[in-house]
Amino acid sequence: MIRIDGSKGEGGGQVLRTSLALSLVTGTPFQVVNIRAGRSKPGLLRQHLTAVKAAAAVGDAELEGAELHSKELTFRPRSLKCGEYHFAVGTAGSATLVLQTVLPALLSASGPSTLVLEGGTHNPAAPPFDFLAKAYLPLVRRMGPVVEATLDRPGFFPAGGGKFRVSVQPAPLKPLHLLERGNVVRRQATAMFSQVPFDVAKRELETVGRRLGWSEAERRVEELKRAPGPGNVLSLEVESEHVTEVFTAFGERGVRAEDVAAAAAEEARVYLEAGVPVGEHLCDQLMLLLALARGGSFRTLPLDGHAQTQIETFAHFLDVKVAVHEVSTQARDVQIKG
Ligand code: ATP
Repeated sequence: MIRIDGSKGEGGGQVLRTSLALSLVTGTPFQVVNIRAGRSKPGLLRQHLTAVKAAAAVGDAELEGAELHSKELTFRPRSLKCGEYHFAVGTAGSATLVLQTVLPALLSASGPSTLVLEGGTHNPAAPPFDFLAKAYLPLVRRMGPVVEATLDRPGFFPAGGGKFRVSVQPAPLKPLHLLERGNVVRRQATAMFSQVPFDVAKRELETVGRRLGWSEAERRVEELKRAPGPGNVLSLEVESEHVTEVFTAFGERGVRAEDVAAAAAEEARVYLEAGVPVGEHLCDQLMLLLALARGGSFRTLPLDGHAQTQIETFAHFLDVKVAVHEVSTQARDVQIKG
């Protein structure tokens, strides 16, 4: 049986989620030890446990060690089942990371699926819903499967209570080549807020104007009336001819609105200056799709720990080669061949 050391590489939840996703697609059982050993609260938290149980439902899998705080898990998938699923994290933990775990398998299932996911929809260190809908899923669709997501209501830490739906029409994944960004055709900064002063959103947008030079028409405020608790998210969307990227920062108690906005603006600035189509977060997520398609390439920023960890995890399950070439100090080409 494949044995994975969860303390290797990034040492977080991603090793587990990617292993679950690849185990489901390939039908290969695995054991993971030292789960999230690199994190201050190691082991399976509610969000990871929900992802494990979601993967078990989709793969009709046999589980050992699927308990809160567990540091070891054995996962034996039996058969991949499409259908109707409802997964609820039960806390404000990220529901989009639960989707990240099961979606790759459902893309290649024998029939369509629909999912209802509940929990956090806009969490730090996880794909925010807007990134999912505007950056990630359009690339999935370009590779063949038709996947749509709709937000019923947003959920922020600590209240949670967010909900979204996803429909999946599977199709074989075609290789994708994304080496050019093309011209930027639209820029949109959205300061979303729920139960926090309007002034916070206004100051964030002013900061975007000052730092990135985005005009008033490119900045808007959105009050999220259906969110069960307070929250504030700044989302910067950069739509180019060949790709859309979304950069996000999260309002936090004790952090000035200007500093929140500066973090997202800096991420967008680095991306725009580098001239690459794929940013840091999209990189590790797209890499998995290309590995499953057994081919493709894209230009991105210098790879972070998550991307490196992805490459190491692929090697356990797939016979694919990932080559990374330095194009310039700011740009890398990633090539995947199966
Ligand atoms: P854990 O906290 O569970 O140990 P982790 O450390 O693996 O999890 P991360 O690896 O930081 O969590 O992030 C998980 C995933 O979320 C990665 O695929 C990453 O690209 C994605 N992600 C994080 N932040 C963003 C963001 N702002 N936009 C899009 N995706 C994001």
